[in-house]
Amino acid sequence: MGYQRKAYAKVNLSLDVTGRLDNGYHLVDMIMQTVNIYDELSFERTDGEIVLESDCGELPLDENNLIYKAIRLIQEECGVTGGLRVFLKKNIPIAAGMAGGSTDCAATLMAMDELYGLKLGTKRLMELGVKLGADVPYCILGGTARAQGIGEKLTRLPNCPTMKLLVAKPDLNVSTKEVYTGLDALENLPHPGVDDMVCAIESGNGRAVAAGLGNVLECVTIPLHPVIREIKDRMLELGAINSLMSGSGPTVFGIYEKDEELQKAYEALAESGLAKQIFMTEPVW
Ligand code: ATP
Repeated sequence: MGYQRKAYAKVNLSLDVTGRLDNGYHLVDMIMQTVNIYDELSFERTDGEIVLESDCGELPLDENNLIYKAIRLIQEECGVTGGLRVFLKKNIPIAAGMAGGSTDCAATLMAMDELYGLKLGTKRLMELGVKLGADVPYCILGGTARAQGIGEKLTRLPNCPTMKLLVAKPDLNVSTKEVYTGLDALENLPHPGVDDMVCAIESGNGRAVAAGLGNVLECVTIPLHPVIREIKDRMLELGAINSLMSGSGPTVFGIYEKDEELQKAYEALAESGLAKQIFMTEPVW
């Protein structure tokens, strides 16, 4: 019997970029929230081989996959000679701004820790994880958190208020790197109020959380792909309190107050043909 883990996706309730480092990395200030959309991973120990299988035909299953990189990293850093056979059931949209690769990476680091009895602990796992991606430490932590630095400086926040979320990804993939490069060419950016979002979460005010949504990367991705704006507007027409692009996009989420509104919006959006993948979901911790 294998060892199973769910790897959860995230959305950003607030995302600001506050600077750029010489190595090309950007300094960010983001509020992250795990949502109930997840990949399912099964792991089995091997004598040293790394074998990756998936129901998803769109991903590399070789050394370019973050799951493969996570196993390699633990082998090298912790002197583990064993490997893993992994099956990935991919449910999280790919290249979507939902940290799909980072969360698989985080789940694999935790699986190696568990299956090889390494007892690395969250802090060490996060230090290892950041070598593979700026969002990996957050994916190890999960829940409601503020991420600063390149994404690795994490502050846990109180659980954000419960919300009904509609999540929609149009039929296009966005390269995170391209979006950040595009941002460097822009001036006078409208910075979201990340501190205000922290206050809204700390006071448990769901309306203020919805009202305060903001993502500076919309300035780059929406002009490249106007369908993102169309989905945001359609969600609002369909009763959302507010809507926002997550991460570097192109996934959009809308916050709804009532189940019936969410259901109706889901159906109407599905019929519109604007999105390729649509989910009704909620935050998880
Ligand atoms: P983020 O929100 O962290 O920017 P994303 O949702 O925009 O992430 P991902 O789905 O993580 O983007 O994928 C980006 C690229 O990473 C993909 O095009 C893919 O080739 C590569 N990748 C490597 N391993 C994985 C994996 N296990 N799952 C998804 N993508 C992976």
